[in-house]
Amino acid sequence: MRKAIRGWNDLESMTMPTIKDPTYVFQEISRNCKNFKELKIMGHLDKIFAFSLATYLPNLKVLSVRCSMLVKEALIIILDSLKYLEVLNTSHSCFVIPYEEGRYRFISNIDRNTIGEKASRLRQFITCMEKPCIMCQRTRMDCEIAKWYKYEEGNWKDDEVSSLAL
Ligand SMILES: [Zn+2]
Repeated sequence: MRKAIRGWNDLESMTMPTIKDPTYVFQEISRNCKNFKELKIMGHLDKIFAFSLATYLPNLKVLSVRCSMLVKEALIIILDSLKYLEVLNTSHSCFVIPYEEGRYRFISNIDRNTIGEKASRLRQFITCMEKPCIMCQRTRMDCEIAKWYKYEEGNWKDDEVSSLAL
């Protein structure tokens, strides 16, 4: 992966599953890909991921975390740290808060006062939490890791952010 990223000097956008510690991936991107601006991840957004993103890719403009489990605190870190972020897509994702070591509890709606206010500076904050759709329900059923790959072929290629749809 590292070697591959070194060869991608023009890399501007990437889609990846969430991995336990993405630090080395983000480090390589920040060293080698000066024009990198869009990231799409799927699976699980936690604090480690958010801190790593804030540290190595603080200039990110577009972030898509659709069909994923989003830890509320991680989202706050992202909204507070990525000063150039313009577009955030959280469609079909479920929001969770930790309640004990390694376990999470769903929160039915995002806290408008914190997330909503912080996201109001963005050009686009995409979410479908108001009226959960079938995709939202699937994410929730799959809980920890949204098994998007087992549904319609090519589902992972979709994105509400047109520049990220493949
Ligand atoms: Zn939805």
